[in-house]
Amino acid sequence: MPDTNTRENGHGLRTPIVAVLGHVDHGKTSLLDKIRGSTVIEGEAGAITQHIGATAIPLDVVSKVAGSLIDPSDFDLPGLLFIDTPGHHSFTTLRSRGGALADIAILVVDVNDGFQPQTLEAINILKQSQTPFVVAANKIDTVPGWKPNEDAPVQQTKEAQSDRASSMLDEQLYEIIGELSDEGFSADMYWRVQDFRGNIGVVPVSAETGEGIPDLLTVLMGLAQRYMKEDMAIDVTGPGAGTVLEVKEEKGFGTTLDVVLYDGTIREDETIVVGGLDEPIVTDVRAILKPRPLAEIRTEDRFEKVEEIAAASGVKIAAPGLDDAMAGAPVRVVRDRDIEEVIAEVRAELSEIEVETQEQGVVVKADTLGSLEAIANAMDEAEIPIMRAEVGDVAPRDISVASTAGEDKHKTILAFNVDVLADAEQQAEDSDVKLFESGVIYRLIEEYEEYVEELERAQQ
Ligand code: GDP
Repeated sequence: MPDTNTRENGHGLRTPIVAVLGHVDHGKTSLLDKIRGSTVIEGEAGAITQHIGATAIPLDVVSKVAGSLIDPSDFDLPGLLFIDTPGHHSFTTLRSRGGALADIAILVVDVNDGFQPQTLEAINILKQSQTPFVVAANKIDTVPGWKPNEDAPVQQTKEAQSDRASSMLDEQLYEIIGELSDEGFSADMYWRVQDFRGNIGVVPVSAETGEGIPDLLTVLMGLAQRYMKEDMAIDVTGPGAGTVLEVKEEKGFGTTLDVVLYDGTIREDETIVVGGLDEPIVTDVRAILKPRPLAEIRTEDRFEKVEEIAAASGVKIAAPGLDDAMAGAPVRVVRDRDIEEVIAEVRAELSEIEVETQEQGVVVKADTLGSLEAIANAMDEAEIPIMRAEVGDVAPRDISVASTAGEDKHKTILAFNVDVLADAEQQAEDSDVKLFESGVIYRLIEEYEEYVEELERAQQ
């Protein structure tokens, strides 16, 4: 079975990277599972390549699932690489040179629930990063009057669709189209898919029954083909470029990096530059690790060493000196380039993400650069000034900084997906610094706004 990511695959473009976003409980995880599940059923064993943090589905398997909807010879793409962790947190963490790491996205919307705060958050992030996306209008099986599609899986024509759709489902779908239009997108059912500037495809699906998944995959392939053609002349033989997904201790390997490689190749023993908490880290790759196929996994031996890997893929990299590496930071293979230039490139990419700060404002701490940026954007929109924004756990010195703020409403720390160190907690109590913690951006902002209102009421 050919690897979807080797340069011998004969395809002109690299595998598109797909992210799944949407409001909590709208079905992101279920949809990803169903996509993997249907492709596992359709494909022969081993056809789905498990990566670190991602799943690759080769073109022939995608086209089998999509049935008559896809003619594989229409595509230059080797398949699709789905990022395994859904949600916009991982989406914003995963940045590449040009902005978002994902080439295309699925925005999952529960048809019964419509647009919710995190749906809007996701749309803003997609707009900002100019990521083309398709809307999966999920949970159609729960709509009253819904009839399962007997001649599954495909409904290609408007007539066929309206024949069976319940009027309630129609109503809900058009509501979603209306909500997209409020956000500045013209949208229609899936046969009029264009890119993010134009029409957005809305595909009715059920992550429960699998209905609509062939259609969704078809739309994704079309979106990827179109967008990647326009934008990406990918040379998967050049020095690798990737993004750190996670920094993790791995038994037998020390601190390792889970990396999504979006360009070029990376080889054993090569020198790499990685964004670190203070300074770029320069080190040599000791091992490139891929997960073993599930059937072969023995607990002591979860990974398989490979000598080289090409984009797009998810891999684990073992190398010395990675303790200060940062999730969301760039990884670059030096190869035959000038090392100083590569270091400068990594620095430049990190500084791109710097958040604008004010003399007076709150302190923000977040787990990754990408999430820091997403929060800063959301705070900018809510007109909350930021005095300091950093990646990392809440430490005593953050409390000291916050406690110097002139106004009470600024003596606060908004902590996103990070821990509060024990002595910092005590210090916050002692110095009347208010801490807000959450893993959801809008909740942090909502809670902060409520707190400010309370303060203002108390002062009147
Ligand atoms: P996430 O938070 O967006 O990842 O949502 P989950 O995938 O965890 O789904 C939330 C709940 O909705 C779970 O109980 C799922 O079983 C259920 N669910 C998701 N998709 C569907 C669907 O298409 N139909 C039905 N009936 N239930 C669904």
